[in-house]
Amino acid sequence: MQQFRVNERGYYGQFGGAFIPEILHRCVTDLREAYLRIMESERFRQDFDQLLRDYVGRPSPLYYSRQLSERYGAKIYLKREDLNHTGAHKINNTIGQILIAREMGKRRIIAETGAGQHGVATATVCALMQMPCVVYMGKTDVERQQVNVKKMEMMGATVVPVTSGNMTLKDATNEAIRDWCSHPDDTHYIIGSTIGPHPYPDLVGRLQSVISKEIKQQLQEKEGRGYPDRLVACVGGGSNAAGTIYEYLEDDRVAILLAEAGGRGVESGESAATIHLGSAGVLHGCRTLLMQTEDGQITEPYSVSAGLDYPGIGPIHAHLAETGRAHVVAITDEEALRAAFELTRREGIIPALESAHALAALEKVTFAPGELVVLTLSGRGDKDLETYFKYEKDF
Ligand SMILES: *Cc1c(COP(=O)(O)O)cnc(C)c1O
Repeated sequence: MQQFRVNERGYYGQFGGAFIPEILHRCVTDLREAYLRIMESERFRQDFDQLLRDYVGRPSPLYYSRQLSERYGAKIYLKREDLNHTGAHKINNTIGQILIAREMGKRRIIAETGAGQHGVATATVCALMQMPCVVYMGKTDVERQQVNVKKMEMMGATVVPVTSGNMTLKDATNEAIRDWCSHPDDTHYIIGSTIGPHPYPDLVGRLQSVISKEIKQQLQEKEGRGYPDRLVACVGGGSNAAGTIYEYLEDDRVAILLAEAGGRGVESGESAATIHLGSAGVLHGCRTLLMQTEDGQITEPYSVSAGLDYPGIGPIHAHLAETGRAHVVAITDEEALRAAFELTRREGIIPALESAHALAALEKVTFAPGELVVLTLSGRGDKDLETYFKYEKDF
């Protein structure tokens, strides 16, 4: 049997590990030694469950989509992470991490953000817990995502525009790591996806695994069996996908279909299709697949969806793709936009552009008659309205 969980050294096959500057060694080791003990404690479990229920609004519904089902000849359910407080799955992770930070005696929170969704989810839980919060965000993104910047500031966070490099997510992450190096004792760094040094990918995957725990229970109630034939999710860094598949990793009755951002096409030079185009390298603390030039310079990613344009991918997903456990398709901007408008018009649900990549992936496979499919709708489309208004007439 294949090993899909992290091993003692922090690896998933050849991917993962913890490549960190000496000065962070203590805090990464402290976190590694504390996270499982804290997550299994009664106090954490009670607080986490209660906040997910009463603050986030979980469990998120599992919605049977008649329209999609008829169209694809399968039984298709949508896992509605778009209905969570703050509009996406990201809040599951930030709630869990701030509880862990509190338990470890940390007094200050930092985070990186691209489009601002993780920044907002972090600023939200910092307001909730009354902890100071600094969010690093590329200057280009600050200018593109004014509403999210204003939301974070309203909630009391300090947003620091980062002017190095391309002034986007990768540069914001570098800056957050730099901040952490200067405040290793009192600061917890809330990473927004299943990336970074061990234990982050495992930690974030476990916090998001509430998604698949609920799927199991909800399928049992609705279908009389606790597993689907296929799970579908989009991947940026990989956290909503990790949460969706977590309970089913070792269950080979369940196929896994992941959608990454093909931008203007995998071969166009303008994409974020890391699994299709990447090669192994180290970025932001772990060894994983990266979009890079032959001499190891990171290639700038592109996608119409700001939440997917990261040049790397979580080590979990790199491993799942390499072993063939997951089937990964690249979805172009155009395919994602078409899928987004279709769900909007046929179901009255405006999805996040990231989630639209998962919807478009349904086009790429053939379903067995009556196949049971669960697709995670990672977020709602409010943040993407400007893009939708711009392209609406074309679809
Ligand atoms: C951030 C985001 C993603 C991508 O992040 P993952 O870690 O890959 O889940 C996907 N969907 C939405 C709605 C997001 O906000």
